[in-house]
Amino acid sequence: MVKKVYLDYAATTFVSNEVLNEMMPCFNTLYGNASSIHSFGRDAAAIIDRARDRVAAAINAKNSNEIYFTSSGSEANNMAIKGIAHAYANKGKHIITSKIEHQSVLEACESLKAEGFEITYLPVDKNGLVSIAELLHAVRKDTILISVMAVNNEVGTIQNVKTIAKIAHENGIFFHTDAVQALGAIRLDVQDMEIDALSISAHKIYGPKGCGALYLKNGIKIEPLISGGNQERGKRGGTQDTASIAGFGKACEIAIRDMIPNQQKLRVIRHYFLDKVQENIEYIHINGDPHQKINGTVSISFEMVEGESLLMLLDLDGVAVSTSSACTSNALQPSHVLKAMGIEDELAQSTVRFSFGKNTSKADIDYAVERLVVAVKKLRSISPITKAGRR
Ligand SMILES: *Cc1c(COP(=O)(O)O)cnc(C)c1O
Repeated sequence: MVKKVYLDYAATTFVSNEVLNEMMPCFNTLYGNASSIHSFGRDAAAIIDRARDRVAAAINAKNSNEIYFTSSGSEANNMAIKGIAHAYANKGKHIITSKIEHQSVLEACESLKAEGFEITYLPVDKNGLVSIAELLHAVRKDTILISVMAVNNEVGTIQNVKTIAKIAHENGIFFHTDAVQALGAIRLDVQDMEIDALSISAHKIYGPKGCGALYLKNGIKIEPLISGGNQERGKRGGTQDTASIAGFGKACEIAIRDMIPNQQKLRVIRHYFLDKVQENIEYIHINGDPHQKINGTVSISFEMVEGESLLMLLDLDGVAVSTSSACTSNALQPSHVLKAMGIEDELAQSTVRFSFGKNTSKADIDYAVERLVVAVKKLRSISPITKAGRR
């Protein structure tokens, strides 16, 4: 049997046992509808209340009622951007975001554009950082919302969210951040960072798939995406998924409890991996900011190697990696993130993302790098790209 090594934690994680234990009773014991008035319903509502408290605590929200559970991080992004845009359209129709956002932010903005909103997509530097000067230049009288992600999912760059939020508020603009990759990786404090709206997702932090949350500061209006019952304070219709929400709450609690040891472990794994790769493979480029980055994600461009082919060869050896983001990996287009960072198409196509997690061991890295070295050598030996002196 082929050894299996999962190095794609930025795409999704397994559900941890602690989370699973929290979820299990919700399926067949505590199965009430949280909107029901009887004891079964009240039990479910109590589980959701506790989860809401845990999610709020993880990002230091002032009040638990500022947390709205959704079906995903993507829904939270859509809810924030479309919901705020629609609620404040009378104030202005200009929105600022960046070129390196997740598809769910970019597509939400594109759909608003079709409705007559104007969108400014901020450029980034070669390390993936949004320029503050460009942001200041983009701000207009009719700007109602700035949305910039906290941590990029492809290259791991950490943005200067607090500075951006400050600029938004100095200009009377709301600030939203996609913090899906940031939760559990960096300290998130919506009060200190002056964040008005923030999106997170359970399945990136050892919780279940299909569950996310939007933090929305009290006092900010939002138009619901999903009309229906009075769930989530009337902002998001649909019977709440008690089990997933309970799991998400637990996953948040653990993410914060274990953040420091987890990050220390990931830093060691990252260095171990990079040292081995750099020792054994030439002509590579490590993408992202060398300082402002999370430990769990490494993006590497391998000259004279086709990224998709590398992914497939590694897959044959049981090693799971990703080319750019999972969502775009079956569209053979260079990643919009790498493109925005000024990486030429050919090199962008030669890029693979390795992302590590709680269960990644040095033995996993030993095996993965051993297979990587063989795969890169093989692909380079048949590469049609000839660069003088590089074969
Ligand atoms: C995964 C991800 C999302 C989407 O979250 P889902 O719950 O999978 O919809 C949004 N933004 C970023 C940065 C992500 O990594």
